[in-house]
Amino acid sequence: MNLPQVKGRLEKDYSLKKLNTWRIGGQAETVFWPENSNELLDMLNWCQQNSLPIVLLGRGSNVLLPDKGLRGMVIVTTKIDSINWQEDRVQVGAGYSLIRLASEAALRGLQGLEFACGIPGTIGAGIAINAGAHGGEIGNLVEEVKVLTAEGKILELNGEEIKFSYRDSSLVQNGYWVLESTIRLKAGGKSSDIREKMKTLKYKRRQTQPLEYPNAGSIFRNPPGHSAGQLIEQAGWKGYRLGEAEVSEKHANFIINKGNAKADDVLELISIVQQDIKDKYGLVLETEVKIVNS
Ligand SMILES: Cc1cc2nc3c(=O)[nH]c(=O)nc-3n(C[C@H](O)[C@H](O)[C@H](O)COP(=O)(O)OP(=O)(O)OC[C@H]3O[C@@H](n4cnc5c(N)ncnc54)[C@H](O)[C@@H]3O)c2cc1C
Repeated sequence: MNLPQVKGRLEKDYSLKKLNTWRIGGQAETVFWPENSNELLDMLNWCQQNSLPIVLLGRGSNVLLPDKGLRGMVIVTTKIDSINWQEDRVQVGAGYSLIRLASEAALRGLQGLEFACGIPGTIGAGIAINAGAHGGEIGNLVEEVKVLTAEGKILELNGEEIKFSYRDSSLVQNGYWVLESTIRLKAGGKSSDIREKMKTLKYKRRQTQPLEYPNAGSIFRNPPGHSAGQLIEQAGWKGYRLGEAEVSEKHANFIINKGNAKADDVLELISIVQQDIKDKYGLVLETEVKIVNS
């Protein structure tokens, strides 16, 4: 099967470990980094015509990829990174790094993205799953979003037309892919104050999260009124290890890769912890990490 002519990078038999922050997973049959939204649309059409399965990734900081690898096409958005700053707004491509966006906003004295300064994903995935921290959420800043539907149609949505909730949105529920967005910030801030605030937030993260090991952020959503990390710690799971996957000693809602952890070890660890929390406290822990099957 001949792949379409594209400008973006294409790789065959590529390690999934290089495409996620956990450094877990087998081989991808094909990986494509579109240079812009049009290339992504062309590849979607081509894959559909050839009945090839597709997995969309940003920076892979919220996914568990399978040991068996992925057949078909993995599309990585990180080269869709156009950016256009206006006075108190920024129009940005889906693959732009959230950390970079937050720090560039700070340099311009624009407030609103401080909470995102330690979230190692793309703005596109961040909007889709309404990423948030320290009381802030991306959904609150969204003015407009350009999305691609599963049928290959491009829609332009107003912020108010999108329903954002805790680590979720109507974009995910509808299976839309974010191509581009306009984010509204607050002008007139003092750059040094904003940067100082971000420095404090980053320091807090380094103190409380196991950033020295490959990980994928929080494994479980917080059940209403509870902290998943506290429940897991209270139940005694800190430091528990299967293969080279371990419930972090530093933060119980993180599973770290101590070397060559397998997705199957992580999955088993997840299900053991889920069962125990259900037995002990009658609470259901739902995963925040997206589990991708081969
Ligand atoms: C150390 C660490 C700390 C973290 N802290 C936080 C935090 O404080 N708050 C928080 O919310 N998250 C946090 N995360 C999780 C993660 O960084 C965010 O969820 C981030 O938004 C995921 O972006 P990504 O580009 O890495 O997405 P990926 O992991 O590549 O993808 C995640 C999901 O989004 C889908 N997706 C990817 N791109 C798009 C797109 N353009 N349109 C639609 N869907 C898309 C994928 O198919 C997948 O289902 C943390 C992760 C790590 C490793």
